Amino acid sequence: MSAPVARIVIVGGGTAGWMAAAAAARFLTNGTRTITLIESDAIGTVGVGEATIPPIREFNHRLGIDEREFVRETGATIKLGIEFVNWARQGDRYLHPFGELGHDFEGVAFHQFWLKHRIGTLEDYWMSAQMARRDRFAPPGPDPRSPLGGLAYAYHFDAGLYAAFLRRRAEAGGVQRIEGRIAGVERDGESGHVAAVLLDDGRRVAGDFFFDCSGFRSLLLREALGVGYRDWSHWLPCDRAIAVPCARTDPLTPLTRSTAHGYGWQWRIPLQHRTGNGIVYASGFGSEETARATLVDNLDAPATDAPRSLSFTAGVRERQWEGNVVSLGLSAGFIEPLESTSIHLIQTGIAKLMWLFPDRAMGPRGRDEYNRLMHEAYEYVRDFIVLHYKATERRDTEFWRHVGAMAVPDSLAGKLELWRERGRVRRFDHDLFGVPSWVAVLLGQRIEPDGYDPLVDSMDDGRVTSAMRHIAATYAEVAGKLPGHADQIAAMR
Ligand code: FAD
Repeated sequence: MSAPVARIVIVGGGTAGWMAAAAAARFLTNGTRTITLIESDAIGTVGVGEATIPPIREFNHRLGIDEREFVRETGATIKLGIEFVNWARQGDRYLHPFGELGHDFEGVAFHQFWLKHRIGTLEDYWMSAQMARRDRFAPPGPDPRSPLGGLAYAYHFDAGLYAAFLRRRAEAGGVQRIEGRIAGVERDGESGHVAAVLLDDGRRVAGDFFFDCSGFRSLLLREALGVGYRDWSHWLPCDRAIAVPCARTDPLTPLTRSTAHGYGWQWRIPLQHRTGNGIVYASGFGSEETARATLVDNLDAPATDAPRSLSFTAGVRERQWEGNVVSLGLSAGFIEPLESTSIHLIQTGIAKLMWLFPDRAMGPRGRDEYNRLMHEAYEYVRDFIVLHYKATERRDTEFWRHVGAMAVPDSLAGKLELWRERGRVRRFDHDLFGVPSWVAVLLGQRIEPDGYDPLVDSMDDGRVTSAMRHIAATYAEVAGKLPGHADQIAAMR
């Protein structure tokens, strides 16, 4: 048995660094282990990850975070899903709501019945969509059979405030923070592992295990250890973003909005104290000036700060754990924030690392398993995002003609073929996005299957259609009586 890791060093204090530090303070302290985080105020953070998906609540819960305190400290609002505008056709609008879609009958997925009977819109059968349409919210109760039982929700929050909130918790849990700029990396001559990082003022911080949370630069994994990058830009050509905040406007919608433009798309994220906005675009298909003008023209209110530009390449690090370094966040890979998945990928990396945490021998088993699982997680997300582009009828610009015609990963092509035949969604894998999410986006993007599951015909149509009407009516009635989202947020503070 090798000795336990005694010194953990976290390089970077963005969302990834402080999430890792807060989790390490909670789960990895053993009385003697030291946890040190190094960040540079001069370099700063990317600071734009503000929309999340429901598993974030599990992360906060496991850290022992009180929801009211979190909402108060981070400017958070509720997110019940994403509204997509202009994606399949200009003028189209659909929701990707969180949580359960209707109720499965006798093991057959609910959407199969909807495909046959077409009563109302699909969104009528999501509790979260019924609430979002009315700007209402109440947390789910304990009874899983109640209309609110299948509800899932996430948050929009201020990334800077969330990092500061986690920092306070991490420091209270014993994490030592060092402010300074890392100028060099020292490696062990025998193992090749990272032995220490060297700050530009001469300080040396040694460690047994390192988290590379240094952002796009990937200071340890890429620069020091030379781990390569799988470039996915042939499937995801957007490579630039411009972010800008504006004043909060009412009503306070519990939705992220994504509006497609000529060569990219624009996000709108409502927070308590402001609205976050940004445009993601493909620089190979149009200019920065036009993208910036499009963004500014489509704000709800005048900008409250100067726009910030960012560049990226869609893809994933070849290995996210190499030697004694694991990468989290932007240093591990980047998939554009169309479904708000980056913070989740940090969270999933942390959870897997806690499970596979090494000792000082750094044996290959846990590391290889981690790399396999994380690649799978990134590929699932990639396929779901590529779907939004591939499944479009837009041909109005070179960008939309390009993505509509491009070849997609085999894994996505297989999913699309399965869907087209009888509306089936692969359900026996570990995809982050479940059947309702795929159905929302496939139908929202106008990909109609040729038929439905024949098992639907073995059920009594009258019984099924009256159950469907009952579900939609109950959801609408319950949603109509809930408090307004803004009032609920005020009450949660
Ligand atoms: P950073 O925030 O860049 O932090 C890097 C840290 O490393 C900083 O503290 C920096 O000071 C430090 N550092 C770097 N070099 C050195 C050095 N030499 N010495 C010392 N310290 C150093 N995610 C979502 O989940 N939802 C979203 O809605 C979302 N929107 C996004 C929109 C855009 C345009 C982009 C680009 C990303 C978005 N993301 C989103 C992703 C999200 O922002 C990131 O996953 C998250 O912020 C984590 O970033 P990070 O901590 O890895 O990197």
